[in-house]
Amino acid sequence: PDVITVGDLANRMAVRGVDIIKFLMRQGMMMKINDVIDSDTAELVADEYGMSVRRVSESDIETGFLAEADDADATTPRAPVVAVMGHVDHGKTSLLDALRTTDVAAAEAGGITQHIGAYQVRLKDGQRVTFLDTPGHAAFSAMRARGANVTDIVILVVAADDGVMPQTVEAIQHAKAAGAPLIVAVNKIDKPDANPQKVVNELLQHEVIAESLGGDTQVIEVSAKARTNLDGLLDAILLQAEVMDLRANPDRSAEGVVIEAKLDKGRGPVGTVLVKRGTLRRGDIVVAGSAWGKVRALLDERNAQLEEAGPAMPVEILGLDEPPSPGEVFAVVDSEARARELTEYRHRVKREKTQAAGGAVSLADMMAKL
Ligand code: GDP
Ligand code: MG
Repeated sequence: PDVITVGDLANRMAVRGVDIIKFLMRQGMMMKINDVIDSDTAELVADEYGMSVRRVSESDIETGFLAEADDADATTPRAPVVAVMGHVDHGKTSLLDALRTTDVAAAEAGGITQHIGAYQVRLKDGQRVTFLDTPGHAAFSAMRARGANVTDIVILVVAADDGVMPQTVEAIQHAKAAGAPLIVAVNKIDKPDANPQKVVNELLQHEVIAESLGGDTQVIEVSAKARTNLDGLLDAILLQAEVMDLRANPDRSAEGVVIEAKLDKGRGPVGTVLVKRGTLRRGDIVVAGSAWGKVRALLDERNAQLEEAGPAMPVEILGLDEPPSPGEVFAVVDSEARARELTEYRHRVKREKTQAAGGAVSLADMMAKL
């Protein structure tokens, strides 16, 4: 709803609320300071004071900023963003830990030192893969629910000794709904009772057809524990990424999605964001949901300070006024005024939603008492 209270409008215009109330009264509108007026009325008031009202559109609020697509000419190839899903105890965390160390610099001092919800591995030939380090279907669903899907490829981990289980099926459904292609990692092949062929057959019943059966799903046998065939899995990811021709424009203001956020005692609100397009720089003014701030520092998973982060790069940002929610869209805006305008609007919409809900409850209470 495009609305504002009389009091908020007065504050914004730096005039007295009582003067606005008097003006509205002359127009035949009886309003109190906390009453809500629509944007047409706000415009009328602003006009009276020789000011203009800029409307913040609904779509800014509901879909964030990721509505318009990049101009194809301006794009360059980017790293794939990969999520790991599968049944509990099939080895998601173990696999993410093993893949982390495939980074060419991992052995050097300053390998991946902190968990920020996502990490990027750099491979020998300069290629990169970004892994979302938040296994769990809930996080994936939360992002999709906000329309902020960031996952290009889903790695479905299936333990070779256990086979397809309920959460395996759930993961297949999530990936299908999101339109993200699957790569199956048949894990724990080091186990004596491992039966990869059984996994392949079981997957068939869920319309996941392995290449070996004439389908288009790559099935890679690995052991996260013994570190067997991690290269094979990375090759499969790169091949899939190539087919998808993933691209983004790095030469524009940054937009992306919040992966994780927390309130850090020493550092204040900290958000991990994944840049979808554009390049995020230190000093940029960022809006993330109803949080905003000037980016004071950009940090990677090695805790190294960065000057900038391009498409498909996960980074921690410091300088926000509150921790944003995971799955929320972030974008760089051109001024602090614009950032304030957007976040105030979002806070107000939130407040109104809560108030509306609260009002309904108390009304129900009253009815019950009558
Ligand atoms: P998650 O619940 O999917 O994250 O699974 P975890 O990564 O926590 O692994 C569950 C258990 O399986 C742990 O005890 C791991 O040590 C074990 N595990 C994971 N990968 C392998 C593997 O490749 N081989 C064997 N033998 N055990 C594994
Ligand atoms: Mg786990």
